[in-house]
Amino acid sequence: MSVLSRTSKAVGASPFDGRFAPSPTGPLHLGNLRTALLAWIFARSAGARFLVRMEDLDRSRVRPGVEEAQLADLAALGLDWDGPVVRQSERGAFYEEAIARLDAEGLLYPCYCTRAEIRAAVSAPHGIAASDLYPGTCREISASERAKREASGRPPALRVRAHGAKVAFEDRLLGHREGEVDDFVVRRNDGTPAYQLAVVVDDWDQGVGEVVRGADLVDSTPRQILLYNLLGLPAPRYAHAPLVLGPDGQRLAKRHGAVTLADRREAGETPQEILTWMATSLGLAEPGEKPSLPILLARFDPACLPREPTIWSPTLAT
Ligand code: GLU
Repeated sequence: MSVLSRTSKAVGASPFDGRFAPSPTGPLHLGNLRTALLAWIFARSAGARFLVRMEDLDRSRVRPGVEEAQLADLAALGLDWDGPVVRQSERGAFYEEAIARLDAEGLLYPCYCTRAEIRAAVSAPHGIAASDLYPGTCREISASERAKREASGRPPALRVRAHGAKVAFEDRLLGHREGEVDDFVVRRNDGTPAYQLAVVVDDWDQGVGEVVRGADLVDSTPRQILLYNLLGLPAPRYAHAPLVLGPDGQRLAKRHGAVTLADRREAGETPQEILTWMATSLGLAEPGEKPSLPILLARFDPACLPREPTIWSPTLAT
């Protein structure tokens, strides 16, 4: 069955179905896990499904054993999910179908540029700098110029003709957002589907109604909404969650010390203590309290969540 012609979503789908979509390239840190907790709370407090998808298209960065460790972390925190874990590496035909549809409508063009951006397109861009925006070099090249580049033997990437579209959306946490969309890559020149395309096809196919993810991905959302529009599919709602930052104000990372669940457990903390820190930092628990997941679900109110990042400190408040 065609992935894009489905009019009804998966069996049991609800408009609040959510997901967590890590890349199995390294252990989850407390910021990733807090986003997973929040995505789980958004879905489960609405009685909806919660799905887990492994974004493993970037084969050069996937590390053996990481997927299992990430799933074990979710389970240790008590986060459950519905159905089998979906892997992007097993869904190539779906992405090709979407690319073929866009191409048939004249919405794609080959790009022969050798920019680092084309190489990077396969993984999620955590923040898109102005210098990452494609200036349109290959958009209108003449047929003879194209033939010359083809003759060089280097396969092209595929870009979408965005026509500088301006896309606006209402984020459940960040409010009104808008952005201009560049001609971004949908298939890398080695044939790998780009993150922007894969995430749209999968969220649609899996029946995800609400995408809850880190605020560092908010710049990707206009690109993804444009793809939904071009494919004739309804876009989900979005909630971009505040990040956990290191003491230097940068996104949490290994260099900030013991920031994974395994690190924290080695330091003597229990999953309940880590959950408590997450809940407290999200304004869902008072310091000193040890709330269970059902209590967090019962008190959840997106309007009361912080909008600002949390600065992580090595001493968790328990
Ligand atoms: N796989 C992406 C990441 O590692 C997340 C993509 C998404 O949630 O849309 O951050």
